[in-house]
Amino acid sequence: MNKDIATPVRTNEILKKHGFAFKKSLGQNFLIDPNVLRNIVSHAGLTKQTGVIEIGPGIGALTEHLARGAGKVVAFEIDNRLLPVLEDTLSPYDNITVIHQDILKVDLLQVMEEHFADYDDVVVVANLPYYVTTPIIMKFLLDKVPISGMIIMMQKEVADRITAKPGTKAYGSLSIAIQYYMDADVAMIVPKTVFIPQPNVESAVLRLIRKEELPAEVIDESFLFEVSRGSFVQRRKTIFNNLQSSLQNGKLRKEEILKALERASIDPTRRGETLSIKEFALLSNELYGEFF
Ligand code: SAM
Repeated sequence: MNKDIATPVRTNEILKKHGFAFKKSLGQNFLIDPNVLRNIVSHAGLTKQTGVIEIGPGIGALTEHLARGAGKVVAFEIDNRLLPVLEDTLSPYDNITVIHQDILKVDLLQVMEEHFADYDDVVVVANLPYYVTTPIIMKFLLDKVPISGMIIMMQKEVADRITAKPGTKAYGSLSIAIQYYMDADVAMIVPKTVFIPQPNVESAVLRLIRKEELPAEVIDESFLFEVSRGSFVQRRKTIFNNLQSSLQNGKLRKEEILKALERASIDPTRRGETLSIKEFALLSNELYGEFF
């Protein structure tokens, strides 16, 4: 087996050889602990029939571990300075394709067709750039990319919000948007010391597994997310007050909101944080009926 990229000594050698300087604005915090990498990959359940999409390979620390376990890895890197580095570090592997592109601009359905048509199962595994964690996850979910799950490193605080349950402080529109599609749990907490440079915050690896069945049928998913966002604008306010001021710029009349809440059997004095995803789905369908 090839020598791991992710040791402090080898990583520093690679950075020096290529004269690479980190760009903070691209969320460049590279992993330098092979045990953490093995642990991340163990949660992905890879086999040679698995395809992997990686976001931000950096110098290839995680990419090589993925290539050892999976059939094929397609990695998207935005920073063109890393392309020659990756060509060098990943040269021992023949099942990796590195694509120089901003993941937010990628046509993911086309990627699935072009690269993974022969694979039973495709997963996303990544140590995400923290400045775009949520847009990246939401892109995969809203574009309906047929992946079975995601194993992704992010700020612990964001992972806590994504996995939060109703009735907790961290529960909010992000928990709802993601848990509508995926079962979410924190697979491991990761200290700052396993990165170079060290981030300012603690990190966590989030495991998302596609739900076999959605919690409820909704007429319009983007409207469900608008309703849930609107319900948390001021956490201390009731759901009725929040919806009245925030929904579609306050265009819906009081009586219409109250009617929708009643039909969804939701007491208007409750706070958004007490509603389950199913209740939000019911409410959004009733409000949709009043609106459109
Ligand atoms: N995977 C490497 C590791 O674990 O050591 C690097 C992870 S580092 C946290 C994030 C990586 O994402 C960097 O290489 C950065 O250049 C890249 N990146 C940042 N924004 C990106 C984007 N929008 N699309 C693709 N890659 C991006």
